Amino acid sequence: MSKKLTQQEYIDKLKSSKSELIPLEDYDGALIKIKHKCTCGKSFSIKPSHAYNNHKCKDCALKTSSLKQVKTDSEYLEELKKLNIKVKPLENI
Ligand SMILES: [Zn+2]
Repeated sequence: MSKKLTQQEYIDKLKSSKSELIPLEDYDGALIKIKHKCTCGKSFSIKPSHAYNNHKCKDCALKTSSLKQVKTDSEYLEELKKLNIKVKPLENI
């Protein structure tokens, strides 16, 4: 049997796996689901063994994959306009 991680060891391991999830409950083994908070503020339960590979909540994962489908800069800027986000591109000003 492998030694169970401490809460701090688990947090460190999440960071080193580039996960952006923050555990909200005490770590109790890799296969015990606990609540984690995503960078978007949403909290959800996930097994620590999965949290290493799933760096965000499902909503954020969907957003990321839909952004990947945007092909051109102008399409991206249109998306920003629609969302009412005031961002100026750094290039071509
Ligand atoms: Zn999220």
